[in-house]
Amino acid sequence: MSAAIELTGVRKRFGGTVALDLPELVVPERTVLALIGPSGCGKSTLLRLVVGLLRPDQGQVRVGGTPMSPATRDEILPRVGYVIQDGGLFPHLTALENTALVARHRGWPRDRVDARIRELLDLTRLDRELLDRYPTELSGGQKQRVALMRALMLDPDVLLMDEPLGALDPMIRSRLQRDLREVFERLQTTVLFVTHDIAEAAVVSDEIAILRAGRLVQRGKPAELTRAPADPFVTEFIAAQAPPEALGWSR
Ligand code: ADP
Repeated sequence: MSAAIELTGVRKRFGGTVALDLPELVVPERTVLALIGPSGCGKSTLLRLVVGLLRPDQGQVRVGGTPMSPATRDEILPRVGYVIQDGGLFPHLTALENTALVARHRGWPRDRVDARIRELLDLTRLDRELLDRYPTELSGGQKQRVALMRALMLDPDVLLMDEPLGALDPMIRSRLQRDLREVFERLQTTVLFVTHDIAEAAVVSDEIAILRAGRLVQRGKPAELTRAPADPFVTEFIAAQAPPEALGWSR
């Protein structure tokens, strides 16, 4: 299986803070990897490096084998979908306009845009009638479904999600976690999914990477992290959230 995302020798500092220091991180195609760790451990920085919003001080980021650089960013960007916590929808555009924006900008004919929107409505289980609403007229969960549609419009190879469910209430959140898992399985896409909730990571992802102060502490299947923690921090981090038996870790 080839790598969809590869970071080699990547270091990123902000002033005196090392935000990220990753000798190697490889995400194989069709893998859903959850990035988890305390606030400030470098999760968002990692996503921003993969989408080319930040450049590493050292090392290389590859997406689908192509090294990220100012020269390749325009080529890579359409292959990467990016969803942030509040959805980041443009407030002056309707849900439909938000979703279709990039495809229209790229000159897709109307029938192609319409056909893709129909597929995405089905995939994200969004009610078609909501497409004419503006973001302020949508609930948090609906906004995130629209943000997901927008991120998937160009059928990207890689999907980056930065705490996409962080602002939602527990019931909506749990429903969306299951729906997201189903979307990932149907699309067979590669996903980097940031969360600070380990139970959520266990539902949506194949593997979990635990970060601390910019470094990778351990990576593995959810059950491996409890069975064979690489560091006391892993045990502590998991125990602080929930007892493992409450997490339903069967994957
Ligand atoms: P996380 O997403 O895990 O909460 P971040 O990747 O946002 O963590 O941040 C990692 C570290 O880098 C933190 O110490 C944060 O304060 C710092 N940092 C992130 N972005 C910036 C920035 N643009 N300027 C200065 N410091 C930053």
